[in-house]
Amino acid sequence: MTRPLLTDRTAVITGAAQGIGYAIAELFVAEGARVVIGDLDAGLAAVAAEKLGGPGVAIGVGCDVSKSADVDGMLAAAVDTFGTLDVVVNNAGITRDATMRTMTEDQFDQVIAVHLKGTWNGVRKAAAIMREAKSGAIVNLSSISGKVGMAGQTNYSAAKAGIVGMTKAAAKEMAHHGVRVNAIQPGLIRTAMTEAMPQKVWEEKVAGIPMQRVGDPSEIASVALFLASDLSSYMTGTVLEVTGGRFM
Ligand code: NAP
Repeated sequence: MTRPLLTDRTAVITGAAQGIGYAIAELFVAEGARVVIGDLDAGLAAVAAEKLGGPGVAIGVGCDVSKSADVDGMLAAAVDTFGTLDVVVNNAGITRDATMRTMTEDQFDQVIAVHLKGTWNGVRKAAAIMREAKSGAIVNLSSISGKVGMAGQTNYSAAKAGIVGMTKAAAKEMAHHGVRVNAIQPGLIRTAMTEAMPQKVWEEKVAGIPMQRVGDPSEIASVALFLASDLSSYMTGTVLEVTGGRFM
């Protein structure tokens, strides 16, 4: 395997203006990729792209992954700017935590729309382009919440479990077209999404992690690189847990 691992490949990463998505984009650029940062806020996506090297290396595109036309626009921007579409990481996400007693229908719908519909948009539209090229790698961000189910997250756990089923179904449809589809289930990773958590809840969660620490976004990025590159050329339909051993 020659390094860098993503030389001349074009990767689109959703929700990549910050957090895990940004860490993935940063590592992909270091491995030779040209990247498209898709995020809700076009301005923040542009700032992130500039930090990664700007035109020629990275562009930012405003995109709400739950909107089909936005995803079309983001993928078209990748092909128009860099000529190919080789990797798509469906990473954009939100939480709207509440117990079932207090969760509103809107909170349920929002989480399903971003994670489940957003990932479906990303997978099917990327697959349509990649099958023409007879190659490509799609990486979906699930969560350990989708494996074990978390109280206060009936919306999020359902969506993240759904992403596992979607990944496997899409992998079966696309394997003979040369397109691989895999998923990652992160555990507790330090980002804006988790830093909002009360200190007591945070400490309780850390106490349940065999490695006794929170994960860093770079530790998800390295697994995304593995799944996006030829290092995992004989893997499709898999779900990799990156949790420090939590809920193994
Ligand atoms: P984050 O720091 O909150 O970043 C998520 C990014 O996605 C934000 O920039 C957000 O924009 C963007 N986004 C939200 N809705 C979007 C939409 N409809 N279209 C496009 N972009 C959208 O979160 P993170 O912790 O890096 O999480 C990244 C992924 O990993 C998510 O899928 C998350 O569920 C998953 N994950 C995270 C953890 C963890 O412990 N952090 C654990 C398991 C799984 P705004 O800020 O404007 O909303």
